[in-house]
Parts: sequence; C-alpha cells; structure tokens
Amino acid sequence: MYDALVVGAGPAGSNISYELSRKGFRVKIIDLKERIGIPNHCSGLVDRRVVDMVGEDLVVGKPASAEVTTPLGSFTLKSDRMRVIDRVALDVKLADMAQSEGAELALRTSLTEFHQSGGRTVSLLKSRKGYEKVESRFIIGADGPASTVRRGLGIRSPRLLSSIQYDVARKSEEVKIYLDRTRTPDFFSWEVPNGDEVEIGASGARSEEVVRGIAGSERVIRKRGGLIPLGPTELGKGGGFLIGDAAGLSKATTGGGLYAALNSGITLSRAIEKGEDVLGDYQKNWQRSFGQEISRDFKIRQLLDRYEKHYWLWVPMVSSSISGVNRVGDVDYPSRALLYILFSFPFRIPSALTDFISRSVRI
Ligand SMILES: Cc1cc2nc3c(=O)[nH]c(=O)nc-3n(C[C@H](O)[C@H](O)[C@H](O)COP(=O)(O)OP(=O)(O)OC[C@H]3O[C@@H](n4cnc5c(N)ncnc54)[C@H](O)[C@@H]3O)c2cc1C
Repeated sequence: MYDALVVGAGPAGSNISYELSRKGFRVKIIDLKERIGIPNHCSGLVDRRVVDMVGEDLVVGKPASAEVTTPLGSFTLKSDRMRVIDRVALDVKLADMAQSEGAELALRTSLTEFHQSGGRTVSLLKSRKGYEKVESRFIIGADGPASTVRRGLGIRSPRLLSSIQYDVARKSEEVKIYLDRTRTPDFFSWEVPNGDEVEIGASGARSEEVVRGIAGSERVIRKRGGLIPLGPTELGKGGGFLIGDAAGLSKATTGGGLYAALNSGITLSRAIEKGEDVLGDYQKNWQRSFGQEISRDFKIRQLLDRYEKHYWLWVPMVSSSISGVNRVGDVDYPSRALLYILFSFPFRIPSALTDFISRSVRI
C-alpha cells in the first residue's frame, strides 16, 4: 500500500511527491500525459520568489516592466522581481526530483474513480496495460482545474475560464496587459516575452478573437489553451486532498498559479508529516500562509468584474499613484497594490482628477 497516490505530475503534484518521498513516504504519482509538461498551456511569468524555490537555471527572461493599456490610456509598472521561466523544464525538473527521492511515476495513466473507507483509498487507474487497482492512505488531487479527484470527493468546482495563447516569433523585453472589458468581458489579454517568442493570450469570452487581433499578421508558431480556475474551493475531505489548480488556488486577479501550486503542496506535505489532523492542519496553515491572499484576490476579482469598466474612475488614480504601486507591487500579492491605491484614494483624488482633466483637454 502507498502512503499517497498523487494524481497529476504538474508542478503541484511533482513538488509534493518530492517533498513526501524525501521524508520517507511511499508515493505513486500518475499523469495522463505521454510526456511530462507537454502540451504546456502556461506563460511562465512569476515573481522571483518562485525562482528561489525552483532554481535560477529555469529562467529564460527578466522583463523589467509591464505596460498596462486601457481604453483611457496606458501606464507602465516597473519591477525588478518579474521572471519568465521555462514551464516545460520546470515540470520535467520537479518530476525528476520526485523520482530521484523514490516516487514511482506512471505516465499515460489516468484516475478513473476511487472510493475511501476504513482510512484507506482504493483507486482505479487506466493505462495502456488496462485497469489497475491501487491502495493508498491518502489521495492527492494535483490534477489541475478540471480535477477528477475534486469531483470524486464531491467538492464543488470553481468557475473555469477558458484561455487561448498564440506564440509569435518576436523578441520583446516587456510584458503587456490589455484591460478592456468591451473586448475581453471576463478577464484581460496579455503579452509575455519568452526568449525569441512572445506569448499572446486572453481568457474568457471572445479570447480567440482578441488574441487573433493582437497577433495581426505576425507568424503564429503555435496555438494552445488551458483553463484558469477562479476562486478557491474546499481543500479536501477525509483522506483526499486538493492542491494547486485542482483546489482553485490560482490568483483570480492575474490567473497566475505557480507559486500557490508549489506552496500548497509544501503546506500539505508538512501536515501529512505531522500526521495528526491532516486536513485541519492543512487548512489552518494554508490560510495562515498564502490562502488569505488567494481569498483576497477572489474578492478583488469580484470588485473588478463590477467596476473595472469604469476606467474614468480608477485609471487616473493608478496613474497618479504609480511610484507607490511600483514600490509595493508584487505579482504574487496583487492585493498589496490595490490596498495601497484604496488607502491613498482620499489623498490622491484631487491631483488624479486635475491630471485626468488636463490630459483630456489636451486630447
Ligand atoms: C493560458 C494560461 C497561462 C498561464 N500563465 C501563467 C503564468 O504566467 N504564471 C503563473 O504563475 N501561472 C500561470 N498560469 C497558471 C498555471 O499554469 C497553473 O496555476 C499551474 O499549471 C497549476 O499547476 P498544477 O500542478 O496545479 O496543475 P497543472 O499544471 O494543470 O497539472 C495538472 C496535471 O494533472 C494531469 N491530470 C489531469 N487529470 C488527470 C487524471 N484524471 N489522471 C491523471 N493525470 C491527470 C494533467 O495532465 C496535468 O499534467 C497560466 C494558466 C493558463 C491557462
């Protein structure tokens, strides 16, 4: 019997398999993919704290700024913390680390169903060899936004936004974010530089149309897509746990989920190591570490869904607060910049309005 069956060998699954295996637990990790990390849907834009966790060797770019374009004008955010990492190499590296600590990896293998009784889980796996039953103390759903483990545990699904990315042959040093609710009513569109290419993406309704429009006549090297979960769910039930996107732990403001995928696995592995009330410990410590930020981000997303289209209200505020936003801004903690703007609101509004009016008159 295994201590843990980990479903999904993405960053969340491989990282927790590594953490548990090196602590002496017997781990089986499965993924329905034929090759680790492929196909890849992710842009790989992270804060440097993710690089501190996974290694400098994965960095392929260090964009120093992000230009944000709205129907009312643009502003530029600056940061020396942004990094672009090779997402396929990340998945491969973490899976190799897990295996080197003894985790047993099975590819082209999917979870079809499972049931829990008497403190153990029996899972039915399907591979080219046919069906196989596996027994484990715990089952860990690291199987992404459309998680089968989540469904099996009877946990509700977060809202899932479908996203499209086109990779074009162009070199760039700058991230671009397009906030325009008339074109992307659910989310936003973006450009992330990645080596000799730029990844152009958008989420929600009309994303393909928007991405095609940004790409224009540029040569599209590949098209890909994925799902972004919006809003955290429950973290588990009985001996079944969810980490990463399976638990809806991406930031609802930006869609970024790599930090949470790694961090939630570390938090759960510590609770399993402690071995008492595993779910209670996981919930408590996750909320203390990064869970609060994920919940705040979801509330901010709800606020943005309501007010983002009123550009005249907030664009002048952000433009006039830009140096402070740059100082506190952090892609893993978007709420810090928002709270900064909200708290400086009463002091900024006169200068923001004057600035806005004088610019509008000039136009
Ligand atoms: C278009 C797009 C761009 C993004 N860009 C960024 C970014 O720039 N920065 C950032 O931080 N985040 C980004 N994200 C989010 C990031 O990709 C996710 O948060 C991250 O991949 C979550 O990791 P995970 O291990 O939880 O899930 P996943 O990476 O989705 O891994 C889940 C794994 O489970 C496997 N699996 C699924 N079902 C089963 C099953 N039944 N049996 C066996 N295996 C199964 C899948 O094959 C997959 O390998 C982006 C997401 C999208 C959609």
